[in-house]
Amino acid sequence: MNIILLGPPGSGKGTQAEMLSKTYGIPHISTGDILREEVMKGTSLGEKVKVYMNKGELVPDELVIEILKKRLQEPDCKKGFILDGFPRNLRQAKALDIILRDVNLKIDAVVYIDVTDEEIMRRLSLRRTCKVCGRVYNLYYNPPKYDEKCDICGGELFIRDDDKPEVIERRLKVFNEETKPLIEYYEEKRLLVRISGMSSIDDVFRHIAEKLGLKKG
Ligand code: AMP
Repeated sequence: MNIILLGPPGSGKGTQAEMLSKTYGIPHISTGDILREEVMKGTSLGEKVKVYMNKGELVPDELVIEILKKRLQEPDCKKGFILDGFPRNLRQAKALDIILRDVNLKIDAVVYIDVTDEEIMRRLSLRRTCKVCGRVYNLYYNPPKYDEKCDICGGELFIRDDDKPEVIERRLKVFNEETKPLIEYYEEKRLLVRISGMSSIDDVFRHIAEKLGLKKG
């Protein structure tokens, strides 16, 4: 199954993508994670994209489209994939259509996780990320067992630069202006599945799996 997860920052896309990936054994492709890794490694691509990311802006389409194209050509994508954070605008969506057509693949469903702006502010300002393994926590909804340390690897938790309040506002604006039009784009293609992201992580996961008719294994 080839799935796109669409939703505002903080809607739980990454968490749900990870759960879907583990349960159904298909890769989770997050352009945000790929870009953050480049920044962390200090590569020339990382240096280029850091300025955009820290301001909450989208990085230039050409860069992400190229990254995604390469990733989708890797053999593990043959059995399916979950896209998280791509496409972010109409240009990327159209580029994706072409990339997939060229490799004879298609999207089966686009899941839109709907969450209110107030809830997003609340979630992102309390979000903490593990420096070592990238696992995401929320100090209110799913806090780590021990203060500011990762349950999985013991790594130190930090606040992403783009989770600072002024940047969160900018990211929301970018989402509303650039990414939201994709809802209509995929609705017209009859691919859109709407899910409320306002319930618990497990409930949202159950709803997605039910709506997509996913079966384990
Ligand atoms: P995310 O982890 O998906 O919230 O992405 C974090 C940041 O990475 C975004 O605010 C953008 O600066 C950048 N980014 C991730 N995916 C894309 C994309 N598809 N197009 C442009 N910028 C992206």
